Amino acid sequence: MEYFDTIIVGSGPGGYMSAKLLLEKRKRVALVEKSLFGGVCLNAGCIPKEGLYKLALSESKPEWKVAVQRIQGKVIEIRDTALKSLVSKGLTYIEGEGELIDERVVKVGSRRLTAQHIILACGSKQREPGISPEDILRGLILPKGNVCVVGGGAAGCELAFILRSFGFKVYLVRRDTVLKGYENIPEEFAQKLENKLEEHGVEIVESLRKVNADIVIRATGRVPNFCQERFPFVGVDEKGFVKSDAFLETTACGIFAVGDIISPMGAGYAFEKRKLRSIISFKVKRKALITEKYQS
Ligand SMILES: Cc1cc2nc3c(=O)[nH]c(=O)nc-3n(C[C@H](O)[C@H](O)[C@H](O)COP(=O)(O)OP(=O)(O)OC[C@H]3O[C@@H](n4cnc5c(N)ncnc54)[C@H](O)[C@@H]3O)c2cc1C
Repeated sequence: MEYFDTIIVGSGPGGYMSAKLLLEKRKRVALVEKSLFGGVCLNAGCIPKEGLYKLALSESKPEWKVAVQRIQGKVIEIRDTALKSLVSKGLTYIEGEGELIDERVVKVGSRRLTAQHIILACGSKQREPGISPEDILRGLILPKGNVCVVGGGAAGCELAFILRSFGFKVYLVRRDTVLKGYENIPEEFAQKLENKLEEHGVEIVESLRKVNADIVIRATGRVPNFCQERFPFVGVDEKGFVKSDAFLETTACGIFAVGDIISPMGAGYAFEKRKLRSIISFKVKRKALITEKYQS
C-alpha cells in the first residue's frame, strides 16, 4: 500500500488545479491519469481550439493539416512543462486507470494507493458515438471534402466557423436555431450568430438528410465520464452527474468531485480556485479518515 494525503483521479483542469493547490500546501499528492496529462481541455478542447481560431484568422494561414500539427506541437510543450512543474513540487504521477476498491483505496494496475481524501476529476465524454470535435482538434481525423457538423451548440458553431475559415465546405445541422437552450443567451444574439456563420459561408440546415457530406462530426453534447462500477461508493443522479454538496463532497465521506462529472460543465468551473480551495482545505465534516486496517 502507498500512502498519500490526497489521491486525484483525472488530470484535466479540475484534477490539475486541485493537485497544484494541494502541492502548494505541501501535501503528498498522487495524480492518476489513464490517458494524456491535461485532459480534454488541454489536449483536444479549449487549448487547441483557441490555437486554431487564431491561425484561422491570421493572414498567413497554413493548410489544415499543418495548422493542427503546429498546435499539437504547442500542446505537447504545455503538457510537458505543466507536468514537470507539478512533479518538481513533489507530485507522484501515476499512469493508468484508477478505480475505488474500497472507500479509501484506489487501485491502479498492480498498485494500491490510500489517502485521507480522494478527489474524482474524471471529466466528460461525447454523448453520441461517431467522429467528435476532439478527434478533429487533435488531428486524429483529417476532414476532407464536404464536412458536416451536427449540433448547433457552442462546440458545433465554433468548429463550423474554424473549418470554414480553413476553406472547407461546411454544413451545420441544428434544430431550431443555434445556441438553443443556453439560458443566458438572448434569441437575438443566437440569430445574429447564425447570420454571421452564413455570411462566413457555413450552410445551415435542419436535417442531416439534406446534406451530401464526406465526413460527419457529432457535436451533440457531452455526458459525465463516470463509470459507476469503478467508483461504486459514489452516488450519481439521473443524468449521470456525481452527486455532491456545497463543499463538492460526494455521497461518500472524504471523496470529492470536481470538473465535468458535476454540473455545470466547463473548464471555467473546473478551474474555479475559490471552490477548489474550499475542498482542498477540507474544512468539512470529517467522519472516517484512514482506518487502522490500511496502516498495517
Ligand atoms: C471541443 C471542445 C471544446 C471546448 N471548449 C471549451 C471552452 O472554450 N471553454 C470551456 O470552458 N470549456 C470548453 N470545453 C470543455 C472543457 O474541455 C471541459 O469542461 C474540461 O476539460 C473539464 O475538465 P475536467 O477536469 O472535468 O476533466 P477532463 O478535461 O475531461 O479530463 C478528465 C481526465 O480524467 C481522466 N480519467 C477519467 N477516468 C479516469 C480513471 N478512472 N482513471 C484515470 N484517469 C481517468 C481522463 O483520461 C481525462 O484525461 C471544451 C470541450 C471540448 C470537447
